[in-house]
Amino acid sequence: MKIAVFPGSFDPITKGHTDIVERALPLFDQIIVAVGINSTKKYFFSLEQRLAFLEASFAKEPKIKIDTYEQLTVDYCHSKGAQFMLRGIRNANDFVYENTIAQLNRVVGKDLETVFLISSAQYNYYSSTIVREIIKGGGNVSPFVPEAVFELMNK
Ligand code: ADP
Repeated sequence: MKIAVFPGSFDPITKGHTDIVERALPLFDQIIVAVGINSTKKYFFSLEQRLAFLEASFAKEPKIKIDTYEQLTVDYCHSKGAQFMLRGIRNANDFVYENTIAQLNRVVGKDLETVFLISSAQYNYYSSTIVREIIKGGGNVSPFVPEAVFELMNK
């Protein structure tokens, strides 16, 4: 069984994230969308909210699981029997960052292979940071987040 972990903060999930997961579905038997919990990092949305957004985004797809983890990402992947880590790349900045992490993970993660998907053109500039800034400014984030997430945000 081919299992991939898609790790991230998802603060909050955007259509850019869902696009990567949906496009990766044909490649894997299972994709675990996993929220990394970093106790030193401050988040905009609580862990419970971020998980609820993820559940709402992927409710209909049985191949997708939602989870959280606190250990090193590579250790978490191994604990789940995942052979692959999934990441998205939007631009050269993402590439530089992801390249470093992937090289490091190859040293500490042994057989774990990182699979990168280039973002779709229409989501190329989407980021959780932009969504947070729009919310702080009182704007409408409906173009940027899945419909179910937008509904939850406005409950
Ligand atoms: P992290 O804190 O690990 O960067 P994020 O939740 O910001 O977590 O992102 C998780 C993954 O999703 C990363 O690989 C990131 O590059 C990717 N990603 C984020 N936004 C987009 C987007 N609009 N298109 C493609 N990939 C994206």
